[in-house]
Amino acid sequence: MTKLIFTTRLLFILLSILSTSNIISQPRLVCITNLDSTIITDVKYSTTNNFTGQVLYSSNKVYFVPEVAEAIIKVNNYLKTKYKLQIKIFDGYRPLSVQKKMWEIYPDERYVANPVKGSRHNRGCAVDLTLVDMNGKELDMGTAYDDFSEKSHINYKNLSPHVLKNRRILIETMKMFGFIPNKTEWWHFDYRDWKKYPILDVPID
Ligand SMILES: [Zn+2]
Repeated sequence: MTKLIFTTRLLFILLSILSTSNIISQPRLVCITNLDSTIITDVKYSTTNNFTGQVLYSSNKVYFVPEVAEAIIKVNNYLKTKYKLQIKIFDGYRPLSVQKKMWEIYPDERYVANPVKGSRHNRGCAVDLTLVDMNGKELDMGTAYDDFSEKSHINYKNLSPHVLKNRRILIETMKMFGFIPNKTEWWHFDYRDWKKYPILDVPID
């Protein structure tokens, strides 16, 4: 019996080592507009124009881990070629300390990740974005960004065919390049390999 417990324990330790070795311990964060200056950004959290009413970021630069930044650039290029559309990014990497602040203000797990678990934004692996035309004008997505209502859910169908089509274009294109849509926020997408990256708390500048 003791031998069995010992073997099980050893197996558990080995598995833990194996599973953590897949995590990239010190990932680099890259500023997306440094990689592609044509990408449009509108970082509401660097202004007071967001659901908290507070300035949460000291910079309006948007960072991701390199793999995610590259996938987002591919999304933008595909949209330009196929639909004459482009993306506008609202948020990318978010320091854990900011996540804690958001949670204090809005502790609802449907819309804000509990900092105990961390958000995929804290890993540089999530993006909030919308579609804009080639002049930078936002397409109608049915609600504004960070509208925490049922209307923002991706299975909410009581919207005009035009809005449903815009949402479908965004969701289908993001999926093509490795992103997973969020059920309650049409603007939020997680990168499929987010588990490879740790939660970070490096400040944005
Ligand atoms: Zn988000």
